[in-house]
Amino acid sequence: MEFAVKKDKTVRDTFLVFGSPMIEQEEIDEVVDSLRSGWLSTGPKVARFEEMFKEYIGCRYAIALNSCTAGLHLSMLVAGIKPGDEVITTPMTFAATANAILHAGATPVFVDINPMTTNIDPSLIEEKITERTSAIIPVHMAGRPCEIDPILDLARKYGLLVIEDAAHSIEAVYKGRKIGNIGDLTIFSFYVTKNLATGEGGMVTTNNEEWAEEIPVYALHGLNKGAWKRYSDEGFKHYHVVRPGYKYNMMDVQAAIGIHQLPRLKRYHKRREEIWRAYDEAFADLPLTMPAPPEPETVHARHLYTILLDLDRLTLDRDRFQEALYRKNIGTGIHFVALHLHPYYAHTLGYKRGDFPNAEYISDRTLSLPLSAKLTDDDVGDVIEAVREVADRYSKAGALGA
Ligand SMILES: *Cc1c(COP(=O)(O)O)cnc(C)c1O
Repeated sequence: MEFAVKKDKTVRDTFLVFGSPMIEQEEIDEVVDSLRSGWLSTGPKVARFEEMFKEYIGCRYAIALNSCTAGLHLSMLVAGIKPGDEVITTPMTFAATANAILHAGATPVFVDINPMTTNIDPSLIEEKITERTSAIIPVHMAGRPCEIDPILDLARKYGLLVIEDAAHSIEAVYKGRKIGNIGDLTIFSFYVTKNLATGEGGMVTTNNEEWAEEIPVYALHGLNKGAWKRYSDEGFKHYHVVRPGYKYNMMDVQAAIGIHQLPRLKRYHKRREEIWRAYDEAFADLPLTMPAPPEPETVHARHLYTILLDLDRLTLDRDRFQEALYRKNIGTGIHFVALHLHPYYAHTLGYKRGDFPNAEYISDRTLSLPLSAKLTDDDVGDVIEAVREVADRYSKAGALGA
């Protein structure tokens, strides 16, 4: 019974919520402004957020939606991914990546990860490419850019699209190129725990004009271009339904938050780098592995600080370790339980434990510690103290201080 867990408040009195976003006065004022104006849904603030985002990434088009999941789905549709197609992706991701493939009627084909980077291993992709393969969806896991060049080489060789799940990696750069300006389509998330948080929200970036025009149509019931203006002061506009679309548009209330968070990305990223270094220094002697340093010529977006528990040197498993931190009032996350181990994908796609050993290794051991820019130095100290105490208490004899 989770509710009955007795709290051991040796570290702190209040619960530290994992992934709680930094929200400042400007966002609050801007949201209030939207509420007072009465223009709550898609309007001028969404247009402004898209302009700012486009400039930030340096790409030609940016389309705001109500989630990254919506963006992944519509990317599949505009890119022409259809029933019967196969789409290669990683099992070390959130359900949304695979679900978007399934929503398009295609089949996700998993390729194991490199355990050092936790990103898809490009050297294992080619053997999974068939006549039916139409796209590769790499995920820049935890904010660490994938090895994009070998993926692009394969895509060129076999005529595949590259659609990047950049939910974790708004600040990421690969060899001087900003993530969001490399593959055919890139999708970002502004879910509450992400580096830029609007509560719910997402953005698709692309340099393809045709797709950039199609996505907003799909996102608003399939109404023709600019239909969100139908009640504006320019007078009522008739619209035409040109396809059976979805309801995926972003609200101005969401964009109101985004337009103030975007200019602060650098400052927040710097703060997360500081916290990252503090964790690296504090955990070096514990029975766990810290994230590998970023690859040369890349910028890591520092979205998740994931420790890998050394289960051979601990007397408890990952879930019990997480529970012990919870009892000390520290909230953590698990990113992720490998998708092929979830019952739906295992049953429908025919996967089982043993199929992707590297993803399983991470899946069994990973634990994400709080990393939000909102954390105070005291919060960071509490996380460090709690992790050290739990690791110490449950270390096999001699593991610590030997
Ligand atoms: C959060 C997340 C998503 C989904 O983002 P939403 O905006 O919540 O739809 C997709 N992929 C990954 C890897 C994520 O972490």
